[in-house]
Amino acid sequence: MSSATPAMDPREAARKAADPRVAAILEILAETYPDARCALEHENPFQLLIATILSAQCTDKRVNIITRRLFPRLPRPEDYLAISQEELEELIRDCGLYREKARNIRATCRILVERYGGEVPRTLEELIQLPGVGRKTANVVLSNAFGVPAIAVDTHVLRVSNRLGLASSPDPLKTERQLMEAIPRELWSQAHHWLIHHGRNICHARNPACPICPLLRHCPEGQRRLGPGAGAETGAPAGGPAAGGADAERRVVDAPGAAGR
Ligand code: SF4
Repeated sequence: MSSATPAMDPREAARKAADPRVAAILEILAETYPDARCALEHENPFQLLIATILSAQCTDKRVNIITRRLFPRLPRPEDYLAISQEELEELIRDCGLYREKARNIRATCRILVERYGGEVPRTLEELIQLPGVGRKTANVVLSNAFGVPAIAVDTHVLRVSNRLGLASSPDPLKTERQLMEAIPRELWSQAHHWLIHHGRNICHARNPACPICPLLRHCPEGQRRLGPGAGAETGAPAGGPAAGGADAERRVVDAPGAAGR
């Protein structure tokens, strides 16, 4: 598939956003999380598909622990059909919802073998037909395994993008569409990772660390929590994609663990 977009400087791409405030936010995210990438360990699309199914209501860290013992033993879809449901349950037992996930993984593997020659399909429409694969999982696979621009909306992306005013809906699908509208296409996949990292490191669900957030000056929710004008002391120009703004705000906060997950 050749729908992958050639790599370009994310800061340069951020400046293509139609809304200068969005451009400024993207530029700061690009600078704050230059190494943001998929945290699920995988070597091919099939492994990523299985890891993403396992990741529902389970941390990426735990999924990686499970897949390190799972993938060497069961490298191909056929291998999941050669063992019983109970055996697979045992292998993924320390992952939440393991019975349901084992059922879905085996059913998905059966479809991959019978319909796709053991390969993972490369379209959203085909992926979401697989048991245990919703739109979010499909977008994760499309963007990370096949390089197709996509924004997978998980709980972090939903929360952070709505707080930042990049989206305005509690509905993941509407949020995905609003993000696709606001963010330049070449940044869709990276923006997904940036928002996840920001949600994990700073914009926590219960107690977002607004006072140390590099996006504070551009964030309606942060301004609401801390008062109008909060974050303006950096002297950074508001609402614009100027590099000086991003640099200045980055210096205010190089948040602890900002580059990790
Ligand atoms: S200012 Fe607060 S609410 Fe806004 S993105 Fe930062 S941590 Fe989240």
